[in-house]
Amino acid sequence: MTHRFKCRCGCFQAIVLGGYTSRGIICCCSDCRAFAKYCDESILIDGGGIHLIEIPQNRFNILKGKNRVRALRFSDGGLIRWFCDCCYTPIGNTRDNSIFSMLSLINFFPETGFIEKDFRFFTSIIGRKSVNQEMKLREQDSFVNWLGKMARMLVYVISGKDRVSPFFYADGKPISEPLIVSSELLYLLKNT
Ligand SMILES: [Zn+2]
Ligand SMILES: [Zn+2]
Repeated sequence: MTHRFKCRCGCFQAIVLGGYTSRGIICCCSDCRAFAKYCDESILIDGGGIHLIEIPQNRFNILKGKNRVRALRFSDGGLIRWFCDCCYTPIGNTRDNSIFSMLSLINFFPETGFIEKDFRFFTSIIGRKSVNQEMKLREQDSFVNWLGKMARMLVYVISGKDRVSPFFYADGKPISEPLIVSSELLYLLKNT
């Protein structure tokens, strides 16, 4: 099954290929929450986490608006957090290249809401400081999750598909140079 990802204003559109046994994460860490505040707080769910679905980067195909994609980081070696600058719809995060790195796509599609069908399994919760009881109940065995992730990652790397990404050029450069958020702004995002 494929899912259509369309930013709020429609300038940016992509197709997400489902059917891949991905891992879901509800991340409640302060960086993910800060990213939500920077872009769009409505992606925060339940106790304040964001629901990410890990998919190979090549399963996210940009149809339109690649030039609207922007990136930011909260520290020098930190994750790259992708969004579109037309309407600040957040997309997800990756490491700083496509090698051995999945796309943690934010499971919130402005047009259709959360997409549970293809991606509801293997949800684990991290950064649980602020997680409420209801979210704890949704957690599954994290070691099993981890093993599954490693196995899937291995298949993905052996196949060479990790070198195909909509967010990086063939030489490994990101399609948009990540902006490093100032410590002042980061403080504000985390503390207000
Ligand atoms: Zn937009
Ligand atoms: Zn996080």
